[in-house]
Amino acid sequence: MRPEVVAAMARASSESTSIVDIQAAASRLIAKVTGAEAGYVTSGASAALTLGTAACLARLDLSKMESLPHSEGIPNEVIIAREHRNGYDHAIRAAGARLIEVGCNEVWAGAGVRAVESWEFEAAITPKTAAIAYFFKPESNPPIEEVIRIGRKHKIPVLVDAAAQLPPVENLRRFTEMGADLVAFSGGKGLRGPQNTGMLVGTRELIASAALQNLDMDEHFQIWDPPESLIPKHLLPGIPRHGIGRGLKVSKEAIIGLLTALNMFTKQACLVESANYARILEKIVDGLHGIHGLSFSIQRPESNQAIPFLNIAINSEQLGRDVISFVRNLRNGEPNVYVGERLLSQGVLIINPFNLDDERASILIDCFRKATIV
Ligand SMILES: *Cc1c(COP(=O)(O)O)cnc(C)c1O
Repeated sequence: MRPEVVAAMARASSESTSIVDIQAAASRLIAKVTGAEAGYVTSGASAALTLGTAACLARLDLSKMESLPHSEGIPNEVIIAREHRNGYDHAIRAAGARLIEVGCNEVWAGAGVRAVESWEFEAAITPKTAAIAYFFKPESNPPIEEVIRIGRKHKIPVLVDAAAQLPPVENLRRFTEMGADLVAFSGGKGLRGPQNTGMLVGTRELIASAALQNLDMDEHFQIWDPPESLIPKHLLPGIPRHGIGRGLKVSKEAIIGLLTALNMFTKQACLVESANYARILEKIVDGLHGIHGLSFSIQRPESNQAIPFLNIAINSEQLGRDVISFVRNLRNGEPNVYVGERLLSQGVLIINPFNLDDERASILIDCFRKATIV
């Protein structure tokens, strides 16, 4: 977190105010920077997926809110590409949804040439469909525009997981402009907000439903006066009791921290840092020069806002140890070093510079040198 974010959180901690009012203010700011009708600060992108799914299942129906995660008898199917399935989809299932997989994953199986196609989404839509879930990466299939078009045609909301897609800053608006009904972003990744925050961005009705299922609902209807921009009281016959998302609470400090980070992020503070991260990675390559068995390549993204990575390929024979024991040594060193493990099976470890500065880069170089000896 930037110092400004920490300072804003400290100030917020000594104020007393109603959470629904801060969330309504958050909704206005998030709407402004994303182009969506409304927005909501959540306790992470994962929580945004659970609340977004709960919103698609219950809409503004209080009895449905009351019954979740039990969803028998109501449209509860969320269509998802088999290739998009991942650990975070548990957050969708946690709301009570049933995942309906489409596509075949045959490219991965090595027994076919085609990725999942958009007609397969359309063919899976039935009266039981509540939403379509799309986990976005730049290379995701089918093109997200096609899936959104199908969702619109059948009036099925499309929920996009874009947790790790910030920066670039344009992605704040990108999915909403395409017509996505709900988008989940992480606040604790590239936004540099509090680690336990995220945003759900979307239509007024769905965000209202998410808010109703997250906020504390211990109120009398006659006294309850939520901000109309966030919760349309006139459409409700009463107040739901605490919903499925009540445990996904967000503190006022966290909300203010996230909004401060979002404000700074939209001023493109991220632009300068991308070049700085590349410089830090070059420094690490220089510092590790001469260690037998390590070879380096800096992965420079096309966008000057995205973060470069350093891939370090291990030649076990030259290094005198296998990649697993090397990574274990790094992790058990003093201080502990955690590397990216996505390419470990190919003998490649990844350095993500996101939490590095010059001082920490020097420490990292020492740790690598020690890990080759112990
Ligand atoms: C990180 C991530 C999440 C979870 O984000 P949190 O803010 O930690 O809850 C969800 N989906 C994807 C694709 C992610 O990369």
